[in-house]
Amino acid sequence: MSHFDEDDAFASAAQTSLSARAMAARPQPYLDDLNPAQRAAVEALDGPVLMLAGAGTGKTKALTTRIAHLLNVGKARPNEILAVTFTNKAARGMKDRVARLLGQTVEGMPWLGTFHAICVKLLRRHAELVGLKSNFTILDTDDQVRLLKQLVLAADIDEKRWPPRQLAGHIDHWKNRAWTPDKVPAAEASAFNQRGVELYAQYQARLKELNAVDFGDLLLHVLTIFQTHKDVLAQYQRWFRYILVDEYQDTNVAQYLWLRLLAQSHRNICCVGDDDQSIYGWRGAEVGNILRFEKDFPGATVIRLEQNYRSTPHILSAASGVIRANAGRLGKELWTEEQDGEKVRLIGHWDGEEEARWIGEELEAMQGGTRGMRPMSLDESAILVRASHQMRAFEDRFLTIGLPYRVIGGPRFYERLEIRDAMAYFRVAVSPDDDLAFERIMNTPKRGAGDKAQQVIQRTARESGVSLLEGARLAVSADMLSGKAKGQIGTLCQQFDRWHDLVRRPDQSHIELAEMILDESGYTGMWQNDKTPEAPGRLENLKELVKALEQFENLQGFLEHVALIMDNEQEEGGPKVSIMTLHAAKGLEFPAVFLPGWEDGLFPSQRSMDESGLKGLEEERRLAYVGITRAEEACTISFAANRRVYGQWQSALPSRFIDELPEAHVEVLTPPGLYGGGFGAAGMAASAAPQIMGMEGSDLHDRASRADVYNSPGWRRLQSRATERGMSQPRETRNQVIDLDAVSAFTEGDRVFHQKFGYGLIAAIEGDKLEIAFDKAGTKKVVAKFIVSADAADDVPF
Ligand code: ATP
Ligand code: MG
Repeated sequence: MSHFDEDDAFASAAQTSLSARAMAARPQPYLDDLNPAQRAAVEALDGPVLMLAGAGTGKTKALTTRIAHLLNVGKARPNEILAVTFTNKAARGMKDRVARLLGQTVEGMPWLGTFHAICVKLLRRHAELVGLKSNFTILDTDDQVRLLKQLVLAADIDEKRWPPRQLAGHIDHWKNRAWTPDKVPAAEASAFNQRGVELYAQYQARLKELNAVDFGDLLLHVLTIFQTHKDVLAQYQRWFRYILVDEYQDTNVAQYLWLRLLAQSHRNICCVGDDDQSIYGWRGAEVGNILRFEKDFPGATVIRLEQNYRSTPHILSAASGVIRANAGRLGKELWTEEQDGEKVRLIGHWDGEEEARWIGEELEAMQGGTRGMRPMSLDESAILVRASHQMRAFEDRFLTIGLPYRVIGGPRFYERLEIRDAMAYFRVAVSPDDDLAFERIMNTPKRGAGDKAQQVIQRTARESGVSLLEGARLAVSADMLSGKAKGQIGTLCQQFDRWHDLVRRPDQSHIELAEMILDESGYTGMWQNDKTPEAPGRLENLKELVKALEQFENLQGFLEHVALIMDNEQEEGGPKVSIMTLHAAKGLEFPAVFLPGWEDGLFPSQRSMDESGLKGLEEERRLAYVGITRAEEACTISFAANRRVYGQWQSALPSRFIDELPEAHVEVLTPPGLYGGGFGAAGMAASAAPQIMGMEGSDLHDRASRADVYNSPGWRRLQSRATERGMSQPRETRNQVIDLDAVSAFTEGDRVFHQKFGYGLIAAIEGDKLEIAFDKAGTKKVVAKFIVSADAADDVPF
């Protein structure tokens, strides 16, 4: 229950005018930090205000200052301000900033938060008005799908053809548009084999019986209460004397209607946003909401901010250049007083691994200060990716070289559900006794082995003193499982026998085997049949996992690698580079930003373009704009010329957004390893190959000819630009080729150096794993190729 004291809140309203005069005399030093336009936005306390301005112009700063000002001059008490932000992190940040501006902690402000957080509180107070009890449960996506599945089955619908998750998608979409079952328009009648709307109504009824809501309901129920109980609405209209909304361009229809109802009477609503940063259309956001603000609130004070305080001129011009290609924008020109600064750097790499390697080296070098720039801590840097599967290459690389990182807004790659599942399959195939792994996947995908069957298998294994896999086999042959489980678990046991045999066959490609395991087990199929928005991302992560295998000789080596790097990874307090998606980076800023993977299909995302055509492409372009404008001092865009998809090299074209970058603001860097051959395609092909660090020689011969790639249109485009600008001079590189033969020649007792752990003595050698007693870090197992001899360490400038 909320701790909000209603009487107290209303009493304060009467007192405000009295106290206002006294409080208006308080010092307002925070106003001095604002430019005139921001100040106007802050001081126009009453009536509707719209701040529609580009990135980094101080919208959030002005909004926060406005809250401080409202409190300081006594216009409102903390619990009379409704302030909506996009994430919980932003809400916390805003509260802290208000406190700093006022020089005191701010008590209360229960209504500063995300739409969800605010609506939970409201709904708990009025649950009975929509037939719920105030202790209702909030279902997560899994619960939601389980419930829908029951309804789909009861309706005699083939769940294979019409997966419940697809229905969940429709329902979310309808809720975002504020359509209760009776309001879903006729045009949607065909959804989910004509049964969607009917099932939606059943689902809502069932939720009520269970005293439960899903996320979409939080807002929708409160909206329904406001629409049907005018007295309740009137109470909150009085209560929330001032309403403030950040990132208004990304509100959906339901949120918009909710805000409009609350602001209708006093019209004290201040919304800030940027139409160029609307990036949640795919989740129902309507950029139209911000564009029609003046129509909804006639006489609104509209403030446009044009001075950018975040980025250097080159970064700003590059971002403006890209977004200019979008049609139908309001169009804003940004300027900055800053004079100096680096151009946006553009670099193409051979593949994603090389891109990750290069960025890792840049990050390390930046800490000491490079290219005339000040030294930058890892905390000041961020890598912003379009798709979360791109994170894998970075995480792998950073774990290997011991570069601390954090993933914002999601689990790290090897901790993701689908990756853990897939790894569990590989583990059992390699070691059939790995019970933990078998337990994880024996009923994923569903094999009819529910809790009861699993208990039978566990008991059988325990009593016979064998592994779970063997226990399962015994339970099957002794007919201890029900029909479906017996058949499917029996098949799984046979499959593991075969995969285990193949693991030991030297002529069996481990990459093909991994794909075979994921396909034959039905694991890939499970996600292919899954129609939730996350499913395609999970499939991409699985592909990425298979890609990671290519650097290892066999499955076992790979599993060890993951176990080792995860084991060595400890939560340390020091600075870390942030890795996150472009979506999660909204509203944030970093001195140095890396934007990797600018390749057509990846960014702009093919899926987004396929699903939404030009609209999708424009949303992608806004995402590019959001990405570049996160950077304060340094922005580096990169792409890989190749992606390996299921063992096949495919040349990728640089993103079309790269062509949209204004040339005057971009510096094209020479890819690492390209020395001496100039920028000509043949020269590149000839000179590049031997320089690729960590690539075993034989592997290079398996690859498609590099010349093919360098003859691709994207490379030619890049090359001609660089040549025009006379930028073909190779830059000094820190990439050094570590002699792998020398590494494997280590013997016990050798003194060696590791980038993260420092100096140490080799205590034991097992294949390519070395057990090393480090002087400072203690004894650890590390992969040989990341070790150099102590003598050589001085010559290798990491
Ligand atoms: P975005 O569109 O990316 O959300 P924004 O418009 O909300 O950006 P802010 O995050 O508020 O911009 O501000 C960007 C940076 O500029 C912040 O570091 C902020 O402290 C600084 N800033 C804003 N206004 C001023 C000002 N008047 N003087 C100096 N610095 C300012
Ligand atoms: Mg902002």
